Amino acid sequence: MNIVIFGPPGAGKGTQSKFIVNKFNLYQLSTGDLLRNEIKNKTKLGSEISSIINSGELVSDKIVNNLIEKFVSNDNYKNKIIFDGYPRTLNQAKNLDNLLKKHKQKIDIVLKLSVSIETVKKRILERQTQEKRADDNEETAIKRYKTYEKSSEPVIDYYKQSNLLKVVNGEAGISEINSEIRGLIDTIKG
Ligand code: AMP
Repeated sequence: MNIVIFGPPGAGKGTQSKFIVNKFNLYQLSTGDLLRNEIKNKTKLGSEISSIINSGELVSDKIVNNLIEKFVSNDNYKNKIIFDGYPRTLNQAKNLDNLLKKHKQKIDIVLKLSVSIETVKKRILERQTQEKRADDNEETAIKRYKTYEKSSEPVIDYYKQSNLLKVVNGEAGISEINSEIRGLIDTIKG
């Protein structure tokens, strides 16, 4: 089973992905984490992307498409990936389909966590004190939310067409969201 989890910053993608990983024995592939690691490890790529991430924009499709390929092509993760924060553009969604096809896999469900901008602002400010992410401040959070709204629309339409999209109320508490997601995954597992 491969899952895509999708939503604005502060929607709880990371938290819910960790829960799904433990419950269903999957591997969490967060492009945000991979990119932050590049910055932390001071790689060439890291130096190219840090200002983009800190401004709340998206890094190029080419960069993230390259990053995920080695996971999709790795047999250890075959049919066991939860894509957290990828795809974020139509180009990425199509690339993911092609890549999965090439490796004889597919997406089984796309979970979209819906939250309002007010909730996003509140959660980002709370997280700021815990995780100290450079892009977790009110100004960048608003920018990231707007970037998400703009770039995600075609991706949402794309997954609606293939009937994979399930919308989850991200305003609810962590455990309520957990159970809603568990129910949705159980349905597709049959
Ligand atoms: P996240 O941890 O998912 O909130 O991602 C943090 C930041 O990393 C985003 O605001 C983007 O700048 C960048 N990023 C993460 N995933 C992607 C992606 N799939 N496409 C483009 N940029 C991304």
